[in-house]
Amino acid sequence: MSAVVDEQVGFINEEKIISLLEAGKSADREEALDVIAKGRECRGLTLDELAILLQTRDEQAVSAMYEAALYVKNAIYGSRIVFFAPLYVSNVCANNCLYCGFRRDNKDLVRRVLTQEEIGREVEILLEEGHKRILLVAGEHAGRSGIDYIERAVGTVYNARVGSAGIRRINVNCAPLTVEEFTRLKATQIGTYQCFQETYHIDTYKLMHPSGPKADYLWRLHAPDRAMKAGIDDIGIGALLGLADYRFEVMAVLMHAQYLDSKFGVGPHTISIPRLEPALNAPAANDPPHSVSDDDMRRIVACFRLAVPYTGIILSTRERAEFRNEMIGLGISQISAGSRTSPGGYLDSKAHKPDAEQFTIGDERSLSEVMCRLCQDNYIPSFCTACYRSGRTGERFMGLAKHGEIRKMCAPNALLSLKEYLIDYAEGDTREDGERLLARSLEELSPALRSKTVDLLARIEQGERDIYV
Ligand code: SAM
Ligand code: SF4
Repeated sequence: MSAVVDEQVGFINEEKIISLLEAGKSADREEALDVIAKGRECRGLTLDELAILLQTRDEQAVSAMYEAALYVKNAIYGSRIVFFAPLYVSNVCANNCLYCGFRRDNKDLVRRVLTQEEIGREVEILLEEGHKRILLVAGEHAGRSGIDYIERAVGTVYNARVGSAGIRRINVNCAPLTVEEFTRLKATQIGTYQCFQETYHIDTYKLMHPSGPKADYLWRLHAPDRAMKAGIDDIGIGALLGLADYRFEVMAVLMHAQYLDSKFGVGPHTISIPRLEPALNAPAANDPPHSVSDDDMRRIVACFRLAVPYTGIILSTRERAEFRNEMIGLGISQISAGSRTSPGGYLDSKAHKPDAEQFTIGDERSLSEVMCRLCQDNYIPSFCTACYRSGRTGERFMGLAKHGEIRKMCAPNALLSLKEYLIDYAEGDTREDGERLLARSLEELSPALRSKTVDLLARIEQGERDIYV
């Protein structure tokens, strides 16, 4: 790779990705099965191994890959699925991303920057449904939704209360900041800072981001570095699937993860896999340059699960309900539910329509409906925030995950947060299904852990809240 290209794309080595993909094409079944066997050991994959799994057409290898992905997910995290709700606070944007309904040139979008009072009211609705974790999302506008605004918004979310219930973890997806601004963001006690590169393919990136601050590829690529320098050690990365060849993007995400790991001693906390959804006046969303099929999505999830076993994989409500249920079985560890992608969308159903939202939602089920289905499928819905609140972030979290310790905390904590939900919010079938799942899941804990969890569950029944191991 020439020095000129290097300057343009930083640590993303396009030539290397392309040549590894080329080499991986010719791998046979045996080679693919060997890679899958290694993935099953929860040691992660190298780029050349990933290139093989991304391309194998051998049916036996593909089903072995899916089976191994679920095995790894269960071995590390158990069967818990963490819930969050996105909270869109502003759709005003200085950028012109060709795939997004919030783009500056979309004159048909009703623009809105929520006041602090409106933010508080939105949060109350989410609290009434039982949410404990929020992903705060904003368009990029230095004047209207810059760090001053985000700082106040995070404070408002944390301070909101319904009875004694409050939001326990706020993750933030906003435009890249400077180190000084990230330091201020860190001081507001956020959990994860999330920033998707959208596409790691430089020429596609330039095409998709014709103007505005986001046109600077490297400024965005190095946002996680700046956040880490500011002390935010839980970072979420991802690519917007559909802009460039997904095989290239998945390889680049792994390259990014490896880069962060080698530079900061900790890889990304989460990887998101947003797939392009139709959006108002967003040409690239309505006619994706590289459509990603459901089959491609299955493979992407399984590949990430095997390649970066200790990283959470997030699936949003962009995807359809039935497909989400299926993807959870391939290694997804976090999902959103009951989402609105327009500022004010939870309170005002009028705001929840195409001329205000960022993109079309694929899964319209409420949190309660999704919870019910998960309980029936034997997944443990979790609102746990214990790691973040006990300081188990960044390297500490990864250290525990790599030694198989995190599962011992995730399982009881998921059950404790489920118990709170069942008592405080669940209706009808969800309560019964949830209690049955709880009883079954307790049996799967070691005797010592079971006895500790039973004690804590009894305290929750007596009215205590927010307790964890
Ligand atoms: N404005 C900030 C930014 O772009 O980084 C943060 C908020 S932006 C609303 C959050 C993410 O939404 C983007 O990073 C992009 O991946 C995703 N997104 C944008 N348009 C989308 C679409 N049509 N379908 C699915 N996801 C989309
Ligand atoms: Fe603005 Fe983000 Fe949408 Fe781009 S993706 S138009 S930066 S809100």
